[in-house]
Amino acid sequence: MIRVTELALPLEHPEQALRPAILQRLQLRDAELLHYTVFKRSYDARKKNSEIKFVYIVDLAVNDEAAVLDRFAGDAHVRPSPDTSYHPVAQAPAGLSERPIVVGLGPCGLFAALLLAQMGFRPIVLERGKDVRRRTKDTWALWRKKQLSPESNVQFGEGGAGLFSDGKLYSQIKDPKFYGRKVMAEFVKAGAPEEILFVSKPHIGTFRLTGVVSRMREEIISLGGEIRFEQKVTDLLREGGQVRGVELASGEQLMSHHVVMALGHSARDTFRMLHRRGVFLEAKPFAIGFRVEHPQSLIDHARLGKYAGHPALGAADYKLVYHASNGRAVYSFCMCPGGTVVAATSEPGRVVTNGMSQYSRNERNANSGIVVSIHPEQDYPGDPLAGMELQEQLEAKAYVLGGSDYCAPAQLVGDFIAGKPSEKLGEVEPSYQPGIRLVDLAPSLPDYAIEAIREALPAFGRQIRGFDRADALLTGVETRTSSPVRLTRDRESLQSLNTRGLYPAGEGAGYAGGILSAGVDGIKVAEAVAKAMLADLEAGSDNKTGTNP
Ligand SMILES: Cc1cc2nc3c(=O)[nH]c(=O)nc-3n(C[C@H](O)[C@H](O)[C@H](O)COP(=O)(O)OP(=O)(O)OC[C@H]3O[C@@H](n4cnc5c(N)ncnc54)[C@H](O)[C@@H]3O)c2cc1C
Repeated sequence: MIRVTELALPLEHPEQALRPAILQRLQLRDAELLHYTVFKRSYDARKKNSEIKFVYIVDLAVNDEAAVLDRFAGDAHVRPSPDTSYHPVAQAPAGLSERPIVVGLGPCGLFAALLLAQMGFRPIVLERGKDVRRRTKDTWALWRKKQLSPESNVQFGEGGAGLFSDGKLYSQIKDPKFYGRKVMAEFVKAGAPEEILFVSKPHIGTFRLTGVVSRMREEIISLGGEIRFEQKVTDLLREGGQVRGVELASGEQLMSHHVVMALGHSARDTFRMLHRRGVFLEAKPFAIGFRVEHPQSLIDHARLGKYAGHPALGAADYKLVYHASNGRAVYSFCMCPGGTVVAATSEPGRVVTNGMSQYSRNERNANSGIVVSIHPEQDYPGDPLAGMELQEQLEAKAYVLGGSDYCAPAQLVGDFIAGKPSEKLGEVEPSYQPGIRLVDLAPSLPDYAIEAIREALPAFGRQIRGFDRADALLTGVETRTSSPVRLTRDRESLQSLNTRGLYPAGEGAGYAGGILSAGVDGIKVAEAVAKAMLADLEAGSDNKTGTNP
């Protein structure tokens, strides 16, 4: 196959225009081009007031590949296509008695379990929350009726934290083995729109994700895997630095020498348990701040100029960074075009914000987290769990500021910059459910964070005109931007530094920061588990007792 990059076409080109463009670019006759697929499509909005173009990367097959490559030798935009297909690294022998355990069914656990199942290792998945259907009902109960289910909510349950989200599927991780492609291909196989394979910033939206996740669960089960909901892991069975299995809240013990911990960033009770059991973990940096809301039309005009609202471009996004004079980096996080701000707590008496969108991204407001990076050495030294404790304190304070009923504290940007409490909304209507309470947000975060955000907002207003408009709305607090701890693992074996057979994985372990990267990490860890299990077998140490038949 040949890959052609930087193939530009006008914004409003018909679908059929791509083939003639390829023929022209490569000076081919129609019969010579056997077939092509779009690998990526992005748009170039740098000339938003004159012309926005679509830019394609295409992979194609021609009659005489060598001749074409020869003709374009030296042209950096015509090259052999890389092999992006996925090749399994192992196959379980028939009759293998030991089964790996995967804790958590977020994107990381889902892909770890799927890959293990596809390689024949029949994983057992333990998820503290409920299946998607029942979990959706519980999550809406918080948003509509202020009723929180601590084990079934935005963070916990089938699909993990990414289920009620914008479903953005891009990441800046290095991915030399194209595992991200495998994640996307599996999502498409399970019903996600095919365009996620080629648009530059794909997203699925929350409703479609729920169907995709339950179809992937069915595949795991059809391949011999087992998925158990409402099964919280409450203890780790460990002997001489080797994992022996896990204990559930019911008291049941499940034995295995290979346990994947794909917990997500909100499993605070489980982090505490692992710390008590002596598993190596350390504090890591994360970020704290607020959600900001603007009319989506403001962002569209700033980003797309005269093309604002063009159906081929959809709702525009942004990414902003500012270095404040107190040394803090302030940046936009998890921007949701045409979406809503959501209540994302998993614990009683706490308020946490996040954002989500439907596939259509056609809600009135754009939102993003405006967050300040914080660091263990400087801001929460000492105990490895100190960052987590800081999150807990800030979330509890936000709960009280919001009126102690799961409403969130909020303030207009103009008042926040001026340092006075808000009393009345402007044109920007809050989307947060179950509701907001207008206050002064200054007491909700440490002073250094407030100062940095106060300085950043006008600077962002210089990049996106109107970003700091007086009636834009801040809702607090955004604290679960990533895990406050790292369950550090060995780079080669991907096992915990001091606990053999324990594979910390995904966002909670500090190895992913979104749906795609968590899925990729799940694949890596599944491969590590499969290789280790085969090595055990070769060394004659397979657990033949068949404890988990
Ligand atoms: C509202 C919201 C919107 C988001 N939007 C996006 C987005 O658009 N794009 C993006 O890339 N990312 C988004 N994210 C972040 C993304 O969801 C996470 O990065 C991703 O889900 C991490 O995957 P994970 O599998 O590592 O952990 P999680 O998805 O958090 O999954 C961990 C799972 O482990 C389970 N678990 C925890 N402890 C135990 C235990 N003791 N026993 C059994 N089970 C346990 C939990 O119930 C949970 O289901 C969003 C997050 C939220 C909350």
